[in-house]
Amino acid sequence: MSDPGFDRLRRRRVVPKVTEATVDRPVDPQGRRSLFSVSRQAPPLGAVTVSCSSCGQTSVVTPQSLLRLALPSVHLPFLRRGHPSYMRCPTCGKRTWVRLGLQL
Ligand SMILES: [Zn+2]
Repeated sequence: MSDPGFDRLRRRRVVPKVTEATVDRPVDPQGRRSLFSVSRQAPPLGAVTVSCSSCGQTSVVTPQSLLRLALPSVHLPFLRRGHPSYMRCPTCGKRTWVRLGLQL
């Protein structure tokens, strides 16, 4: 609501992933579909994954709980390519560097 920088980051991540998925799908429908159906079961659509550099775990959070974890947070995509975001890890509870991913 009050953080326009974070809002911009989320919107940027959605655009390229959607086009990738729609381009990839017709190439190998059977093989891909079986892969997708397995991975789709766990995280709901639009869920965000948080990969922690401290405990090594990847956890799935809803956008609402991500906002709570990410206040405050620091994002340095150019300085830290592996884990560019500094925020609280939902698994170990530490403030550390994490990588965010979006499930589509
Ligand atoms: Zn952690």
